[in-house]
This record gives sequence, structure tokens and C-alpha cells, in this order.
Amino acid sequence: MNLGQGLIIGHWVTLRRFLLTFWRDIKDGKGLHRRGGGTQILDFWSGRMPRGQEPTVRQDSTTEGLFTVEYPDERLPVYERFRVLPMLVYDTEDGNVRCTSCNICAKVCPPQCIWMTQAKGPKGNVVPLPEEFFIDMDVCMNCGMCSEYCPFDAIKMDHNFELSNYERHQTHIFDLQDLLVSSEFYAQTHPEAWETAEQITERGKVSKKKDQRLQKALAASKPAAPASSQPAASKA
Ligand code: SF4
Ligand code: SF4
Repeated sequence: MNLGQGLIIGHWVTLRRFLLTFWRDIKDGKGLHRRGGGTQILDFWSGRMPRGQEPTVRQDSTTEGLFTVEYPDERLPVYERFRVLPMLVYDTEDGNVRCTSCNICAKVCPPQCIWMTQAKGPKGNVVPLPEEFFIDMDVCMNCGMCSEYCPFDAIKMDHNFELSNYERHQTHIFDLQDLLVSSEFYAQTHPEAWETAEQITERGKVSKKKDQRLQKALAASKPAAPASSQPAASKA
């Protein structure tokens, strides 16, 4: 190959791709249509699609034309096992927070970015619920170990990656309210995992186990019967 011939061929391939991009869009009548759906003109007049409803774009080896995803107006689809940050699940049916504040997730977390306090009953006995629960999102490395080890199926990995903020010392330390999501939300975002036989069995076992622990803690926190109610003979 002559000197410089490869360079010219490389440039030609790029130029051809560049020109075909426009030609295919004009030929197919795409014009200002977004590949994921909708048109740029309509978006301009009526505003952008609400968050989470933006058109998604799939790309594979057969995709032709423009390769750029026009984020945030277009998105690549998020796959179910994609994981970003942890979330705490409560059961939609009864509003019960699944977490028992057992601290296992905090122990296994490699960068140690989880901390919590356990709730207390009126007599000071521990109740299997978190009173406070924090995760430092800037330290979390998205490994999913907390979710793998949780014995109560309470902590799962979320898909939300849009976490940028103007400040990172307060807003990136998520508390219980930031972390809580309903089991309905989890079922919608993780439909395959939700329907696996393993998870269905686990859900039944976990809710029974948690209920037993809660009843035990509530019984222990009930005030003792007053001494005067005891029969006089038993005091002797
Ligand atoms: S999320 Fe799971 S592992 Fe972590 S404290 Fe709660 S129940 Fe225990
Ligand atoms: S995903 Fe990993 S780093 Fe993040 S909180 Fe869970 S265990 Fe810790």
C-alpha cells in the first residue's frame, strides 16, 4: 500500500458515513423525528417529555445513520440488572419496612458507607426496625454486596443514575426517606427478578420471619400487669 493510502481510505470511510447520515434521514422522511419516537418540533413547542418517559433508543450492529443518543431527550434502555445505588423496600400492601436494622449490610459494605440505628420500644427494648438509616452515595461503589447479603430482602439496587447536584456533603447522604421505595416500584423496575421462584419463596419466608420478630418485640414492650392485680394469697 502506498504511503498515505490508508489515511485517505480512513477519511473516505468517515466522510461516507457522515454524508449517508443526512441522506438516509432525508430519504426515509425522518427529518426532525426522533429515533425513539416524537419529533423535535413538537418537543420544542410542548416541552420535553417527563422524566422516565423519554423515548429510548436501541443500537446494534444493524443500526444505520446517526449514532449519537441525544441524551437527555433520548436514552439508551436500562437493563434490569443494571445497578447504581441501594434502595430500601417497604411492602406496598401493609406499608411495613422490610429492614430489621440487623446491620449485616453495613458490615459487608466494602467502603463502609452504610450506618443506622435501631428503633426502641417504650421500655427501651430493641424493635426490628431502623430508626435512622444512612448511605453516603459518594462513597458507595455500586457493588451490590449489601443487597446480596440482606437476609430480609430489604435492600435492592436502583437504576437511577441522575444524581448530580450543586452540593455533595448534605444531599448525597441519603436518609431513610430518600432510600425508601415500595415493593410495587421494585416489581415494576425488576419484573424478572420479582417473578423468580426463588424470590417468591423468599418473600413468603421473610414476611413470616419479620412478623414473628416484630410480635416478640411488641410483646416485650407491653407494660407488666400492676402488682395490686395479683391475688393476695399468691403474695404470701
Ligand atoms: S437492609 Fe437488610 S441487611 Fe441491612 S440492616 Fe436492613 S435487614 Fe439488615
Ligand atoms: S452497593 Fe456496595 S458500596 Fe454501595 S452501599 Fe451496598 S455494599 Fe456498600
